[in-house]
Amino acid sequence: MRKVESAMRNLSLAVMVAAGMLWGTASAQVRLKGYLGDRLDQMIEHHVVGTDIDYLTAPFIEKTERKNWWHTEFWGKYMHSAMPYLGYAGSQKLKVNIERGIDRILASQEPCGYIGNYPDELRLGEGWDVWGIKYTMMGLIYYSDGAKGDLVLATRAAAALNACRKLCDYVIAEIGPEGKRGRELWQTGNWSGYASSSILEPVVWLYNRTGEKKYLDFASYIVRGMIEPRQGPRLCDLALAGVSVADRNESGYRKDAAWQYVCKYGRSKAYEMMSCYQGLLDYVLACQKSQIGDQELLGKLRRAAILSAENIVREEINLAGGCTSSEAWFHGAKKQHLPYLHLQETCVITTWMRLCGKLLSITGEAKWADEIERTFYNAYLAAMKADGSEFAGYTPLSGNRYHGQHHCYMHTDCCTANGPRGFLCFLDNLFVRDNSAATFNFYASALVDGFDMYSLYPRENYARIVSHITGQLELRLRIPGWSRQTSVVLNGKALEGVEPGMYFTIARDWQLGDIVEITFDMPVVAHVLEHNVAFTRGPILFARDSRLDAGDFTEPFRRGIRDGQVIESFHPVRAASDDFWMQFAAVLPVGAHNENPEGAHGSMLTFCDYASAGNSWHRDNYYRTWFPIELAP
Ligand SMILES: [Zn+2]
Repeated sequence: MRKVESAMRNLSLAVMVAAGMLWGTASAQVRLKGYLGDRLDQMIEHHVVGTDIDYLTAPFIEKTERKNWWHTEFWGKYMHSAMPYLGYAGSQKLKVNIERGIDRILASQEPCGYIGNYPDELRLGEGWDVWGIKYTMMGLIYYSDGAKGDLVLATRAAAALNACRKLCDYVIAEIGPEGKRGRELWQTGNWSGYASSSILEPVVWLYNRTGEKKYLDFASYIVRGMIEPRQGPRLCDLALAGVSVADRNESGYRKDAAWQYVCKYGRSKAYEMMSCYQGLLDYVLACQKSQIGDQELLGKLRRAAILSAENIVREEINLAGGCTSSEAWFHGAKKQHLPYLHLQETCVITTWMRLCGKLLSITGEAKWADEIERTFYNAYLAAMKADGSEFAGYTPLSGNRYHGQHHCYMHTDCCTANGPRGFLCFLDNLFVRDNSAATFNFYASALVDGFDMYSLYPRENYARIVSHITGQLELRLRIPGWSRQTSVVLNGKALEGVEPGMYFTIARDWQLGDIVEITFDMPVVAHVLEHNVAFTRGPILFARDSRLDAGDFTEPFRRGIRDGQVIESFHPVRAASDDFWMQFAAVLPVGAHNENPEGAHGSMLTFCDYASAGNSWHRDNYYRTWFPIELAP
């Protein structure tokens, strides 16, 4: 019976591959179920499939940009999510939209190779033209990668890659090492060259797909611009010198400068800086694979990217896995209890998860999966509207949630365009399999290649994995750093040697129906910062929501709660509606008066997960994560 079931699963996968539905993406290996599966399905249907492709591609055809804006980033971002979600969901409507978009983009390419919406005199200069070209190159490559395995679309895949080549050739001819516009690539665009230099990523991808040396040469030229000019991005020396990402403005930057000067030369813009490190890591990998380039320099670049990301974890990431105020680094972790303007932009948190995903694949260190998990369950899911149709621009730790901006006179913005890409960071890394090993980085109800997983994690602290394979394979389980005592049981027998923050490997000859059970150590922990307290349970940050108990959020907690203290009295409670993913309650010491018998009692407080807090997007639905602790001078 089991053999028949297994054969049926393999057959259905084979049929989907033959139908061109899987398109060779990692996310096609996973079918997410339960709460997260529902949220993903909603987002794909209401956001990705629901995108009006004519609207996104109209600027490429109209070419009327005069204000140095960024209309041309939206289509490439859309393609980054549309292609894998086509593989995941197999929507014919989505497929038609993708094809129509490609038609319109290819038709808009000028004989010189340019695809964009700037007039000739403004191209590849100030503003966001190079940045837009970056996303267009990425969109063309995403399409080409996905469509080339499809017999019907193989010709169009080649046409898309060719269009990407011509577009890159145009950029090289205009602002490459001997470009006719007479300026360096890093001197274009904003933020000390971060924005334009991040085109490195698709340039490396183009080299990887064509093998043409001119693209690797161009990539090397971009890297020199990233690290050498005094007023440029300086992504290597400042990182190696241990300068925090928030303090990199020192050279070529004045604190009292006008806003235009800050935009031009500032180095604190998180999204663009991390996009550069993403490209740098791809560049290092491409050079190492081709065995070319200065090995010492490549080592420094890799080290600079890792040091910067470690600095971000240490000094910027808050308990929700979010970061930045007004999109800039600001040593935000140590003052996260205060209210900030424009906290944790969705573009920033999506780009952070992408960078962590790259670092996870390069270093193999579980700590980067810990970071994706924290950001995904909190800051990311919080930014997504309940029906998945859009993403907030900013998501405060306390306050309320609301729509993002309307950018470039369009009814979308950078964050809504970026949002669906963020879910891929979770989906693509949840389960990774090659011939000798299968790795679970995350735990959720899911069908994956060779295993089924049943779990209500992180609402509950347990996951059950059932084998659908026979034969030798290493099963690797990520043990989160916060889970101090994790139990792993194979077919009823407890296994030894499980360590937090590491992968636990079970190497064996698997049989159909083998069962692995994992129980995580997930107490509620208090975090104290300058007379304020917040609570986490495993990867989840707790919040109080105005729809829950009637208590006053401004009511102080009493003295005595210690940083890192485990609060035993929390217990799960039944939520009143589906609006909340999870709720926990505890009797806690709050209140302004403890001097009479009644006031000395604690109060029952109900918390929900941070992502569910405020998710009605109504202005009268507010929430709070950090709470004041009384002072006693
Ligand atoms: Zn944004």
